[in-house]
Amino acid sequence: MELSGTILAGPEYEPTEGRLVVESGTITAIEAVETASSDIICPAFVNAHTHIGDSIAKEAGRGLSLDELVAPPDGLKHRLLREAERSELVESMRRSIEFMAVGGTGAFLEFREGGTGGVEALYDAAGSVDIEPVVFGRDELSVLETADGYGASGARDADFSVERTAARKADKLFGIHAGERDPHDINPALDLDPDFLVHMVHAEEIHLERLGDRGTPVVVCPRSNLVTGVGIPPVPELLERTTVGLGTDNVMLNSPSMFREMEFVAKLCDVSAPEVLRMATASGAKIAGLNCGVIEPGRDARLLVLDGDSDNLSGVRDPVRAVVRRAGVSDVSNVVMP
Ligand SMILES: [Zn+2]
Repeated sequence: MELSGTILAGPEYEPTEGRLVVESGTITAIEAVETASSDIICPAFVNAHTHIGDSIAKEAGRGLSLDELVAPPDGLKHRLLREAERSELVESMRRSIEFMAVGGTGAFLEFREGGTGGVEALYDAAGSVDIEPVVFGRDELSVLETADGYGASGARDADFSVERTAARKADKLFGIHAGERDPHDINPALDLDPDFLVHMVHAEEIHLERLGDRGTPVVVCPRSNLVTGVGIPPVPELLERTTVGLGTDNVMLNSPSMFREMEFVAKLCDVSAPEVLRMATASGAKIAGLNCGVIEPGRDARLLVLDGDSDNLSGVRDPVRAVVRRAGVSDVSNVVMP
């Protein structure tokens, strides 16, 4: 397969006019040649933190606090999940996953409730969609037999050292929420030596130093933090120390569109467009151990093609800034999966 247009190539997403060659799902060559195509070819997004399970509760819970919305076991989300039929849950998740795929997301890191049954329901929902789900189970140790990792709610809820050790023994990933409401659960989370942390809105200097020392990656979800009113993560400071991925968090609070998340972080924080695009692609891929997120030979061809001549994008002078700050789902003309 060949694609042509402006290719956002390499780890710096350097706009390169030319042709991209894909063989058996792998990028094999980028050739700089003149082309009449106005397409913009970009790595597909890796949404580094989702809770697709609450697709049954979109826009529920207006005016509720963060704890009333999502704290286990009796937050609104958990009550609605318990009340729903499995078929209803799976179908609502499938609809959200379909929306993510159509919007250029090639993989997502999902924190799933409900133990092994919850993880299996997520795989059922994603099975018919061309996307790579990376699923983190919780609630019982045996989820590690089915899931790609363990996704802990946070160190203020429990100790999680048994789960952390079990994940390591099973050679699976361990992620944990930290620093969402306040800084108090950050050091206990870091003590677990997790594979990544989620949120870190309230990271202080001591935590930033520990992140830098260990190289522990962080996933930020700024739109979610705005909705729940907990603050804005210190994205530039985090980027100075470690790998930072970008996630859309709970579907009940926000649409799982990486375009919207990128625009928010680009306009809310002092971060360059290539850095934001890296957060939305290569960094999430690195955290999940996926071979995508960068357009270079040898990488999986998980790609997003945008119509650079859409009414929204025609005339743009900086394709990386356009993808990050302006583009939307309606500009997507093709999503290529390996
Ligand atoms: Zn979360």
